[in-house]
Amino acid sequence: MTDTVSMADLDRWVRAFAELVAENKDSLTGLDAAIGDGDHGANMDRGMRAAVTAIEESGPATARELFTKLGMTVVSSVGGASGPLFGTMFLRIGAALGDGTEISLAQLATGLRAGLDGVRARGKAEPGDKTMLDALAPAVAALETAAATGTAKDEALRSALSAAEGGRDATIAMLARKGRASYLGERSVGHQDPGATTTALLVAAAVRALS
Ligand code: ADP
Ligand code: MG
Repeated sequence: MTDTVSMADLDRWVRAFAELVAENKDSLTGLDAAIGDGDHGANMDRGMRAAVTAIEESGPATARELFTKLGMTVVSSVGGASGPLFGTMFLRIGAALGDGTEISLAQLATGLRAGLDGVRARGKAEPGDKTMLDALAPAVAALETAAATGTAKDEALRSALSAAEGGRDATIAMLARKGRASYLGERSVGHQDPGATTTALLVAAAVRALS
């Protein structure tokens, strides 16, 4: 195991995420049925299947090309709030990683921070609003801390995953302030946010593919 991430690793990460979304499609849709319109699992599964195919066909040579293809495909094939939000996150990650083919942990953290900022700008939500940001923000912070303290890659990714899962679980007690779930007001409390759940799967896929 090296402490950098190669193009082959990034490709494995995308595939692992698509697999986890497919495996959890029904439970994600179930979470969205409770506080939204019950399409989140199907939305993300459609988008990630299309993305895996698009990446296979285009054979990206750099991190920017890979994440741009991923983001564009997710934006164009996923409806609802999550298409533009996850798509923007991937596009921003690609722009931040640039033309690299070997990515350090610090660069990965910088890329994910750019993705997080993109989601905030696009969706106008903040951590605490019961959205995907509640899993993404703690994961990015954990990765930044790990990178700054010279933590090995697999341990860094595991700490990002436990932060993401903690953030996901914290959405249960939150009142939704953004997206469809916010229409429910107090009735949104007591339910886990679907987008935060998918975001934790993205980090779980990173542990699976990059460690
Ligand atoms: P829709 O709500 O349009 O049906 P999805 O069901 O696919 O879209 O996605 C819902 C998820 O999107 C929510 O669980 C939440 O995590 C995320 N989300 C919704 N609005 C926002 C927002 N403004 N900012 C960040 N994330 C959001
Ligand atoms: Mg929905």
